[in-house]
Amino acid sequence: MSLSRLGAHLRRRRGPRPRWPPTVPLPCTRASGTRGFDQSRDYVVGQLRNAGYAVNVQPFTFPYFQELAPSTFERTAPTARTYEHATDFNTMDFSGSGDVTGDIVPIDLVLPPGPTPSSNTSGCEAADFAGFPAGAVALVQRGTCTFGAKAQNAKTAGASAVVIFNEGQPGRTEALSGTLGDPIDIPVVGTSFDVGNELADLAQAGTTTVHVTTSTLSENRATYNVIADAPSGRADHTVAVGSHLDSVVAGPGINDDGSGTSQDLEMALQYAKAVKNPTNHLRFLFFGAEEEGLLGSAAYVASLSQDQTDEIMAMLDFDMMASPNFARFVYDGDGSDFPGNEGPTGSDIIESLFTGYWAGRGLASGTIPFDGRSDSVAFTDAGIPSGGIFAGAEGIKSEEQVAKYGGTAGVAYDKCYHQACDTLANLNTQAMGQFADNAANATARLVMRDNDLTDNTETLKAKRTTKSQDFKGPQLVR
Ligand SMILES: [Zn+2]
Repeated sequence: MSLSRLGAHLRRRRGPRPRWPPTVPLPCTRASGTRGFDQSRDYVVGQLRNAGYAVNVQPFTFPYFQELAPSTFERTAPTARTYEHATDFNTMDFSGSGDVTGDIVPIDLVLPPGPTPSSNTSGCEAADFAGFPAGAVALVQRGTCTFGAKAQNAKTAGASAVVIFNEGQPGRTEALSGTLGDPIDIPVVGTSFDVGNELADLAQAGTTTVHVTTSTLSENRATYNVIADAPSGRADHTVAVGSHLDSVVAGPGINDDGSGTSQDLEMALQYAKAVKNPTNHLRFLFFGAEEEGLLGSAAYVASLSQDQTDEIMAMLDFDMMASPNFARFVYDGDGSDFPGNEGPTGSDIIESLFTGYWAGRGLASGTIPFDGRSDSVAFTDAGIPSGGIFAGAEGIKSEEQVAKYGGTAGVAYDKCYHQACDTLANLNTQAMGQFADNAANATARLVMRDNDLTDNTETLKAKRTTKSQDFKGPQLVR
């Protein structure tokens, strides 16, 4: 597949200057609910229709969230301290707006933290708030239940704002950044363990007062999935190839996931020209609102009847194909490296298609778990064999990985992940070539395959069970 064609798809996305919305300044973005997304949708739809696909645009509504101004957080008593945004605290997604001054009330904290991460139940039960003074600021600790559940319980008890601090074990100390899932109309901030621990100590000794301001927008907006069906192939053996068409609000999302969508679009155009008599049916899916918690893929799978679900023999997810400091990750379909996280029966075969292709070209790869962070979740939860490849996001590359993949140790796979700098300049075209070739190979092999993927179940006997995850898409929920 030609890289210049891929670049052309990405460049042609640039339309007229965004005028949306008239009052709130936005960065250059393709987030669901913005004009940039709708332009991406129209471009993809036009290209696919011209190539002969039956294209269906599926609308759904989702909760949109945006910060309208930077939030502030400070302690005013017993001594003053101003907290630094990002270092000490972040606004939780779907926090309400407000300008609140109130006294800190610690809620069922475990300090020092227990030995096991995700072990305390601070704020998880309504009873934790017995006797809570109305108007106070609840101080809760990350733990077993979701941020949203803690914040909702606090609000119900009369809290004017909520401070959720990180739990305190190694790896759980930085300023929390996550989502409440649903709007809660009081300010909710996530802080580092140190900030919360200090506030807890001070509050135990005497009155401790904080001042928090947030300015946010939460509202339901419409967005879309684009579903494109090739004209032929047996429908009861449908191969679904997916990527997400939206970006985060903060930037244009060219690696995440302009790389996967442009790859899939080019695959679709070449396939339409080259393949006239496939064995199986090929369907391309361009999801909206992935960045809001995998909402497009969930809406798509929810819209299928059981028969339509059963017709999908495999789902391939392509998200982030060109990370500048890339690794070659393959979802661990058979659970050999992440026991208990295996995909449904047949995911082992998909994994081996991806690893085998790279191995055949002398390219090493590594595995990642099905961990709740990709659009394949809705499909694996429905029992559909799934897989995908991934070049890496905010994780830091190790020395070991540099020996395997090249690049720079101690630096993120994509240092522009979810930022304004995820532009065309952020793409690693060498990675893009390696990933696009692998994606096309796996897709072609599945489309030409005679049997479905239940005919080779050596490594997977049991169906995967759904369990609670820390992530919903890119966002931390607990
Ligand atoms: Zn993504």
